[in-house]
Amino acid sequence: MEENESWVVDLGDGTHQVRTCVWSPPGDHPVGCGVIVTVKDNKVVKIEGDPSHPITQGRLCPRCIAMDEVLYHPDRIVHPMKRAREDRGKDTWETISWDEAFDLIESKVREYWSDPGPHSILTFTGTGREITMYSAAYCHAIFNSPNYCMVLSGGACYGPRCTIANFQLGAGYPELDYAAYFSDRYDDPRYEVPKYILVWGKNPIYSSPDGFFGHALVDLMKRGSKLIVVDPQLTWIAARAEYHIDLRPGTDAAIAMALCNVIISEGLYNRDFVEKWCYGFDAFAECVAEWTPERAGEVCWVDPETIYGAARAFATNSPSSALWGLAIDTETNGVQAGHTFLAICALCGYMDIPGGITLAKPASFTGKWRYETVNSVTPESRAKRMYDLDGRYKCWDAAGPGPLPDVTLDWLEMEDWSNVEEPPFGGFRMSYWFGTNPLSCMAASPKRWEKALAKLEFNVSQDVFMNPSIMALCDLVLPLSCSVEHEGIVFPHFGRNSHFLGAMSKAVEPQDTKSDVEIMLELGRRLRPELWPWETPEEFFTAQLHTAYEWGFKDLQQEVVHQQEFEYYKYEKGLLRNDGKPGFDTPTGLIELKSSVYPVFGEQALPYFEEPYFSPYSEQIDQSEKDEYPLVLTTGGRHIAMFHSEHRQISSLRKLNPWPLVTIHPDTASKEGIEEGDWVAIENPLGRCVMKACIRPVVDPRVVHCQHAWWYPEQEGEAPNLFGNYKSNVNNLIPHKKVGVTGYGAPYKTVICKIYKVDSLEG
Ligand code: SF4
Repeated sequence: MEENESWVVDLGDGTHQVRTCVWSPPGDHPVGCGVIVTVKDNKVVKIEGDPSHPITQGRLCPRCIAMDEVLYHPDRIVHPMKRAREDRGKDTWETISWDEAFDLIESKVREYWSDPGPHSILTFTGTGREITMYSAAYCHAIFNSPNYCMVLSGGACYGPRCTIANFQLGAGYPELDYAAYFSDRYDDPRYEVPKYILVWGKNPIYSSPDGFFGHALVDLMKRGSKLIVVDPQLTWIAARAEYHIDLRPGTDAAIAMALCNVIISEGLYNRDFVEKWCYGFDAFAECVAEWTPERAGEVCWVDPETIYGAARAFATNSPSSALWGLAIDTETNGVQAGHTFLAICALCGYMDIPGGITLAKPASFTGKWRYETVNSVTPESRAKRMYDLDGRYKCWDAAGPGPLPDVTLDWLEMEDWSNVEEPPFGGFRMSYWFGTNPLSCMAASPKRWEKALAKLEFNVSQDVFMNPSIMALCDLVLPLSCSVEHEGIVFPHFGRNSHFLGAMSKAVEPQDTKSDVEIMLELGRRLRPELWPWETPEEFFTAQLHTAYEWGFKDLQQEVVHQQEFEYYKYEKGLLRNDGKPGFDTPTGLIELKSSVYPVFGEQALPYFEEPYFSPYSEQIDQSEKDEYPLVLTTGGRHIAMFHSEHRQISSLRKLNPWPLVTIHPDTASKEGIEEGDWVAIENPLGRCVMKACIRPVVDPRVVHCQHAWWYPEQEGEAPNLFGNYKSNVNNLIPHKKVGVTGYGAPYKTVICKIYKVDSLEG
């Protein structure tokens, strides 16, 4: 402890406390909750919420409260480990030193660089964790590869929303205004409490998604905000909403168009704002005219009166605000749903007003650096980015940071090009994974991914615990330090619309583990030293901060939380466009109700509703299949105790969610002879999984909801069991490459299924 470290308080008795912000590992979105870590003899003895943190104000979710169980868990990986390629699937790991691990990576990378070239090294990124800020840099600036990959079909998380916002608003992720930029928060005189909050496909109290602190919603409810919730489930917030639009999963675009229909046809929109700042109003109005609440009600299984009521309440109570969530990303029609969601907010003029929706420039300084690293990929290598062999998905190719995940699977499966007339480049040899457990979590059709990734000669992962994907496929695993064991910066919203920067300060010395940033700097110095001049993480973070501020990382540690400056009405002041002119950073300079960008990529300029792929009304399947699989399967809802596939081995958290749950309406359960706690198979023509019945009248009788990302750390890890990876894996039922026209969005929440009782998890 140094004398001027104000974030550290000596309590005497060999005990001290560290004020810090938390991100990851273990997994989490960049919420940056403030914690006070009490340390004795280099051991964390207590973690509690920091009441002085301006956003979280002392509140924590159970995952941080259980941090000590993660830190000192007997199964945690605390040394680098390698295994022979022929031993994949076997628990024959050998502990090695960090030098050996780095030497091994360096020699393999140099070998693959020379034959067949850097493009043969693929990186796979996961979600949420701190590495999200740096994984693109690893791929581009260390490995010199253009193939920055993920396995999530349609990139169906956050990426679609960010792209839609960039195209239509020319501004970074739009967020509910919860006074997060102000030190006195809701009492700041510039702020106004939103009268209504439209919460679309999101359950923030359970998941604090994307860096939004979910309990802010409760703060606002206590101050009088009323809710309109669009969700197929009766969640805690939906139960407290004035209007709950409990739509059929995947029909969001139709509901959104019906809300616009009411707002426009009843003249409830903000004419001044629309005339001055929106492009394509007449065409948009004509487009939504056919989507009356009656028609949408029929298509979406919603009472038209709820649509009328919600539209009127939202449009006539200024200011109101809105939040959008994963449901927009996880449907093939999601671009249209997102397009229309933003249109609702624009029609009402709620953009960048107090108590409305906060906007920011498309990328803050950090967002910029990580994507600019793409320029460090040499032209010869850049020419070998995987692309869709059928020539679709031009939008993804233009906006996506790497190849479309579905295209990546095609290429890996096609590595034998003997049937292709003019084989393109190929020869993929290595993959490097960050914060991802692909076979348990993101991958639609995960068995196909297992087979495809097995073709690669050398797979490396960096993580905290062994998991099914590492056991099945990796040859080297690098152990990561947790967020209280290393230094870092939290950027809510991954640098887009970041209301604060939070310092992650090291509270305890790590075991034989390193942070993602420490590993990145070492690999960078070894492989492309000209791009990696920084000796320490502190130097690196300070250099990053200096691109925008005069102060560095030590200053941020002193401050713990640095709230960013904020101004409302940025579009009037020339603060959203790079040329400094008023307006929005879009081709028309306006919010594009009618897109001038989508047609360039073969997508329609105006929103539309398309029946979800593989739905009960889909024309892509025949009646006999519809009869056999009469239910709609929706998935992806979070549990507060887990982050995707993580935390399953943490006993206090597992007690809160001991088994994977399928939520079934009581009428449906009784029809199938299923009782609470029974094992239930969920099946469709693509596959099946088994979960425990949770019988509640919170879903429509025609819908079931399945938890995602389940595996069993307590079970046999070796193949073929792989910790029971495929037993409760809902992605067994999800198709590959059924993505939207743009490449964005995939049917994770909308496929047909049937359910039936089985005797056990093995049944
Ligand atoms: S949301 Fe939960 S896990 Fe994430 S930083 Fe806050 S308390 Fe920790």
